[in-house]
Parts: sequence; structure tokens; C-alpha cells
Amino acid sequence: MGIDLSEAEAANELMRLARQIAHHNRLYHAEDAPEISDADYDALVRRNAAIEAAFPHLVRDDSPSRLVGHEVAASPLSKVTHEVRMMSLDNAFSDADVEDFVARVRRYLNLPEDAEVAMTAEDKIDGLSCSLRYEHGQLVRAATRGDGQVGEDVTANVATIADIPQVLKPLPFRGGVGMGHLADCPHPPTPSPQGEGGIPDVFEVRGEVYMSKQDFAELNARQEAAGGKIFANPRNAAAGSLRQKDPGVTASRPLRFLAHGWGAASAVPEATQFAMMQRIAAWGIPVSPLLARCSDAAQLLQHYRSIEHARAELPFDIDGVVYKVDRLDWQERLGFVAKAPRWAIAHKFPAERAETTLEAIDIQVGRTGKLTPVGRLTPVTVGGVVVSNVTLHNRDEIARLGVRPGDRVVIQRAGDVIPQVVENLTRESPRDPYHFPDHCPECQSEAVAEEGEVDVRCTGGLICPAQRTERLKHFVSRAALDIEGLGEKTIDEFFALGWLESPADIFRLRKRRSEILGREGWKEKSVDNLLAAIEAKRAPDAARLLFGLGIRHVGAVTARDLLKRFVTLEELRHASTSGEAEALTSIDGVGPAVVEALGDFFHEPHNIAVWEDLLSEVTPPPYVVETKDSAMAGKTVVFTGALETMSRDEAKAQAERLGARAAGSVSAKTDLVVAGPGAGSKLKKAAELGIEVIDEAAWAAIVKAAG
Ligand SMILES: [Zn+2]
Repeated sequence: MGIDLSEAEAANELMRLARQIAHHNRLYHAEDAPEISDADYDALVRRNAAIEAAFPHLVRDDSPSRLVGHEVAASPLSKVTHEVRMMSLDNAFSDADVEDFVARVRRYLNLPEDAEVAMTAEDKIDGLSCSLRYEHGQLVRAATRGDGQVGEDVTANVATIADIPQVLKPLPFRGGVGMGHLADCPHPPTPSPQGEGGIPDVFEVRGEVYMSKQDFAELNARQEAAGGKIFANPRNAAAGSLRQKDPGVTASRPLRFLAHGWGAASAVPEATQFAMMQRIAAWGIPVSPLLARCSDAAQLLQHYRSIEHARAELPFDIDGVVYKVDRLDWQERLGFVAKAPRWAIAHKFPAERAETTLEAIDIQVGRTGKLTPVGRLTPVTVGGVVVSNVTLHNRDEIARLGVRPGDRVVIQRAGDVIPQVVENLTRESPRDPYHFPDHCPECQSEAVAEEGEVDVRCTGGLICPAQRTERLKHFVSRAALDIEGLGEKTIDEFFALGWLESPADIFRLRKRRSEILGREGWKEKSVDNLLAAIEAKRAPDAARLLFGLGIRHVGAVTARDLLKRFVTLEELRHASTSGEAEALTSIDGVGPAVVEALGDFFHEPHNIAVWEDLLSEVTPPPYVVETKDSAMAGKTVVFTGALETMSRDEAKAQAERLGARAAGSVSAKTDLVVAGPGAGSKLKKAAELGIEVIDEAAWAAIVKAAG
């Protein structure tokens, strides 16, 4: 993927991607309600990685590439910091990948070609990762994976799962206890040399909470009868059932548990993965009956085939086979790279396919205005799951497949939440292709794809019902108008009441003072504070107002650059609609994408109505670039490490207000480095160059002194 972006565009896009990916992570992992396919999600992650590779100094602290799974979303469950981080696994998709993995391990350990590298192999269950902490054999805490470092406390919920013992069984160890036997397993379980089931003082068992296929089907049937939430698949059902505020709900859901490893442990009483898993089984915690020990890649692949063969008959969904280096001293030497261990890999099953009829193509409008075509199918079973919808991704994908309603198609499901079409079996020609809509089905605004982009987007951002609440939340957010007390919940509440249709309505809320007071949770003081905070923004900063409108490609920095040049919003509007693009593109950091987005925005009558309505309520003064007489004027500042009281964006904005420039990397031109905890190479470089380094508190003092 070629990256043809200016630095400002790259920074903007990375910000947008971080937000988008976090949003989808939350929907997938925390709310169990994904709204895009895995393929679309992967495309976002790849785009982020490609931009980061081209602009390494712009990598954000909250970069999606630094996270495992989702960050813990706002949740009624309290948070738990994992003593030992919960990692994710790298994936292998082919036999060659597996052979490479074994060869890599051998190289890393500097073993001779003929040395045996024993590995365990077990089915990878599609569940929700969970860590169970036992102290002196007693279950004291259960936590979800969360972002790998911080999860959610589900101790009370887990207590309702019959598979999970409250107290470990200190049985005399007799090898193979609790283990099934697989006929073609190359190495049937062997008794451990250690003969007792001694339990360490602290031992965290890690594994998956899951739901069987049958229990899942029955749960959905009950949910449907009761008008409740229907789950997309057993994984989502298990996650949704475990992450309940009320353990009573969890208790009513048929959850199971399967251990696959461990985290923090005061002692590990075995020398191999295999023996340790047998011991965990002997303590009374279920371990996969398909766990085997193999001595080379060929045996791993043989075991993989046997599990793949048994897959359809298994009572639960699995999506691959996990291999782990058996010797624990080797695991320790191999260690971790980024967020995955070097000593393990997940060998994924190929996607499952089925043939059916595409009955219709519906267009869904996402919160960002993206028009996503969804294929409605004659329901068909793929890999044990009934599929009736597929994502068609975008306009280009429909053209590539040449699909129209009525066509026979091959669909594929690869552990995907939303399956996709991989082949069109009806390809007679000539015929008229499917016409992708050029208007938004929700608000009838024009829908356009920008130059070089495949996604078609609704241009009616501020009036489009699909986008409105998100736009309003953006409008009042800290980097935009920054209206204190008008949070996401309040926006949702007022929107549902029909009080907030567009940004201008925020400034008309004062007429609803008594109505707001009549609502639960509002007191005189909180209402007055909210209305005062709104009134305080009657003369808002023009650049923040422009940024708040959420015009594509017009980020906070671009908004300021535009206003520096045009001074008033009316001048900017005039330049954007007069067709003289040079006036705009002559500004540093303003490229054709910005010009096109502004043109599209002001081309849409709905947007102009919203714009004029808003400007009848607020009067942003002409934009003046403050050149404060501060000690910082003209200086270059670099922020590094974690900032605790503000975001990186806020810190940069402060620097700009002081007349300083915020740079991404340390060089001889840098005047000052503000370093928080965890600052690394930039701090080192600053020391080498003899550049002044201060902490966040000292920076705050400078900002305060400048007023
Ligand atoms: Zn729309």
C-alpha cells in the first residue's frame, strides 16, 4: 500500500484510525456487537501499520498496534490489573508457516538441525479469555483479558460456572487424570515423574470461557422467544453472558471453561507444558482432551489434520490448533516479541464455504457516513452456523464480484463474525451491473467517494440520522467546542427526546431548562452548570467550531491552518465554493483531499442549512493567531512518554497557544523536551544533545504562568 500523505494528513489519519479501531474493538470485544467484518477491520489495522511504517515518529501512545484486544470499555465491572500480561498469539495459515515456526524456534535456541523440539498441540477454542487466580488452592479472583494488562473482575460471575472449581483438588498425581485419549495422537499422555499434586501458593490458571454449539442454539431460541438480544455466535454469547453486572444472569447461561495455560505462579511444579497441563487437569480444571505432545513439525501437522477432521463433531467451535514449545525453560528463553510469545503459534483452519442465493443488496449507513452494502442471502449453514447476511464491503467489491440480486454466490466464513462472498457463480453477460446508490438511503443527501477512495460516504453528516449523535458528540468534545457537562450520555438522552437535532439546538437548550429539571438525575445546580457551560461558548474559537463540524480531512490542525489564512468562517466558505482551489492548497498541510471535502460539504444544501442555523446562535470572533509574549514563543517542543493530566493533542495545543511548535522527534532544533513516565529513545537523544528536559508538572507551570 503506497502512502502518499503529508505529515499533517498522516497524523490526522492515525488519530482517526486509532479512534475507529478502538471503537470497533469495543464493539467486538466489550459489547459483543461487531458492526464491520474482520476483513474490514484488518484493512484498518493494516492501513494504520503502513502509515506508522512511513511516519515512525508519528506513532501514537494510543496506537492500535500497541494494544492486545480491546481496552476495557466503560463497564459496570471493576478493573483488575494482570500481574502477568495476557498475551495474544501469532497466527500460522499454512503448513509452511508451521515449519517456519519450528525452524525459528530452533534457530533462536541455537539447536542443531536434528535436535528434537517437542511441542504441545491443542484445539483452539473460540471463547473469551479468562484468568483464574488461586491462592492456597482457593479461587480468589477471576478476570477477563481486557487489553492484556487490565481486565474486568468477573469473580462473582465465574463462581456460577460449574467447570471452574472454587477449590483445587490436591489429588495424588497419577498422570493422565482428567485427560482423554486420542487414538492417533503421536505421543499419548505420559505420567509425570513427579508423583504429587502439590498446589503452589499462587497460581493463575488461564483458559477460555465458552458456550457449546447446542447451548448457544438453545439460548438464542430462548432469547428470541423472550424478545431479548440474539447473539451472532457462541463466542459473543459467552462474552455477553460472562460480562454481566448481575451474576444471576451469568448463572442462567450455560458457560463452560477449558484451561490452556497459566499466568502468575509462585511456583511451576513441572518442567514441561504438557506435564503442567496434566497437573492442572488433576487439580480439577478441564483441559482439552485433544491436547497432545508432538516431537516435530510433521507430527504437529498430523495432529492438526486429525483435529480438523473431528472439528464438525466437536460440541464447541474451534478455529485452529495451538502449538507451544513443551520445555518450560525453553519457553522462558524464547520470551516475547511485541504482544505475542515466541514459543507459541495458532494454526488457523481455512475458511468454510457454502453456496446460496443473493436475494438483495441493502445499504447501511455507518456512524461515520460510510455506505456499506450488505448482501441478504437465502439462509445457508456454513460451519454449523446459519448465515443470512454477508458484507459486500464497498462499491468496488460489488463491481469486482459482478454480483446482482438473484445471483448464486459462494460465501465463506473464517471465524468471521460477518461472512463474505468469495465467488459469483452467475456471471452471464452482457447485463447491467448493479448500480451503487449515489444518495444516502437514510437522509437522501448526496453520497460520494473521494478521489482514490473506495468508500462512498454520505455528505449529510449533520442532518443524517445515522451520523447525527456521533457528530454531536464530536462537536462538544474537548478538542472541538469543549462544552463541559455535555457528555455522551446526555447527548444520547437529549437526542432520544428530540431536543438535539443539530449543533445549533445545543444553544437552544436553555429554553428547556424546566423540562431538563423534570428529568431524573438532574438538579438545579447541574442544569445551571450545563447551561452556563453552553452559554460560555457563544463566541467560540472559529477553528474549534470548524473542527467540530466534523468535515472529513479537516482535523484540529487543518482547521487552525485554514483559519489562520482566511480569518473568518465566511471567508473560508467563500473560498471553498468559489472553485479557486489554489487559495486553499497554497496553505501548508492543506491538500486536494481537504479542498474536495470542503467543496462537498458546502455543496450540500442540508449542510448549509445546519451551518447557517449554527451561526445564528454563535458568533466566533475573527481568528487571531495569538503570539503570546511567552518565553516559549518560537521554540520547538517535543512531548514524549505518558502524559497523565492531559492528552498528547491537548499538550500540543498548549504549546501552539504559547507560540511554540510541537514536533514529533528530537533533533538539534529542539529547544525543550517534556517527558512523562516511560519516555525512551527521545529522552536519551535529548540527553545526548544536551537539550533541556522537564516533567509534566513543570510544563503545566509554564502554561499556567503564560495565562
Ligand atoms: Zn445520510
